[in-house]
Amino acid sequence: MGNPAAYTPFLDRFVLERICRRTDSGGFHQLLGRYIMGSLKGSNLTNVKRQNESAIRDVIYRYGPISRSEIAQMLSLTPPTITTNIARMMEQGLVYECGRLGAEAGALGRRRVKIDFVADAAFFVGVEMNPYQIAICITNLRGVMTAEARIPWKRREDGFVLSEELKELLRRIDGNDYRGSLELLAQVILNLMTVSGIDKKQVLGCAMALPGLIERKTGTLKKSTLEAWNDRPIARDLSRLLDLPVLLENNARARAMGQKLFYQGELPEDFAYYLISYGIACPLYIGSRILDGGQQGAGEAGHMVADLNGPRCETCGNAGCLEELASERAIVKTVTRLMESGRDTMIREICPDLDFLSSREILLAQECGDELAQKVIDQALLYLGAALANIINLMNPSLVFVDSYVMKLMKNRRRLVEDTRAHIFGLYNDEVEIEFVEFDHFTGAKGAAAAAIERYFINGEGAQTFG
Ligand SMILES: [Zn+2]
Repeated sequence: MGNPAAYTPFLDRFVLERICRRTDSGGFHQLLGRYIMGSLKGSNLTNVKRQNESAIRDVIYRYGPISRSEIAQMLSLTPPTITTNIARMMEQGLVYECGRLGAEAGALGRRRVKIDFVADAAFFVGVEMNPYQIAICITNLRGVMTAEARIPWKRREDGFVLSEELKELLRRIDGNDYRGSLELLAQVILNLMTVSGIDKKQVLGCAMALPGLIERKTGTLKKSTLEAWNDRPIARDLSRLLDLPVLLENNARARAMGQKLFYQGELPEDFAYYLISYGIACPLYIGSRILDGGQQGAGEAGHMVADLNGPRCETCGNAGCLEELASERAIVKTVTRLMESGRDTMIREICPDLDFLSSREILLAQECGDELAQKVIDQALLYLGAALANIINLMNPSLVFVDSYVMKLMKNRRRLVEDTRAHIFGLYNDEVEIEFVEFDHFTGAKGAAAAAIERYFINGEGAQTFG
């Protein structure tokens, strides 16, 4: 495909991106030509109408409150097209007029009304299942949570009380009962909707975020540590149980999507999202589009080789993967090994039962000046910094978000930035910003909701059809 920018004297770049995404490369020039000439007929006309509506929604989502004329200008669409689309959305209760431009617009004799989405016009379900917990939330269009539920795998959290229903869900997942787990998960989601008082008709879709390789087209988990769930058509099965469209997404990518949609402020087109959790991943947005890769496996930074003679990776079986050296699970494994060999540490008092050891206790010890905890975390940070520098040197993002429980401690943030900057190729060093995502149990679930918002609201795709 040619460079879309070459065709953009009158079209905003992301309109083009949307066209590109929906057509093969051969069809691109053809469609663009017809789009410009306004000579579309039949089903193509329907497509363009849909694309226009999706582009308008995208602009309102990103820049709202915004006036109709500003939208027309940004999209190079005619004012009647904008007016018709907005009128339809208003009828549906999706947008509202929320203010007017000030005196300078009045002086022109015509006040320009600003419009924006009614945040509570639609709701979305986001679920993240990761090795630590299941988090479920219902958010409105702007990612504000109206209902939530969370289930830690191990009862490590003081005073955390689980309902019988959630306990049973855990039992079924632990027992590798795929069908039973999914049925109960659907029940929990439906109960959350009831409790929050949301009309189910307002819920447009659900997204489930899981670690591992996802085949998005079929909504299937291809490779993950959740053995009983691998190769199952999870999206289809959950969709039937909920009677809602459901999509499946990798959890690190979902978190990056959440940042893209809900970030307060302007985001650069190129940014990376470095998730350091039980495993490690680093999805990338390039030119405002998330990088997929051929098998949609781009961003698996955890399996970059960090030490040729390193330990076997628990996830993929190869030697020396970054996540086997520097993830939270690697940190816990190293601390456990050192403690078993008799090393002195206050972690023994903090966590007498090593089966329940997590980064939480190790961080607590580090904060109290424990030497062993400090040493193990410093070593992990060295690997994490070097790997991040590699990613920056290769892809040159303008901004990197770091999402990690380990980064709750300020000194770990400083250390990671130092260790990264020590390896960044000179030209990029001043240009790349590193921003830390404040730790939150619902970051992944909200990210999943963002994936649902993008597909089912902004792109306006309805229920997935499964063959
Ligand atoms: Zn690996």
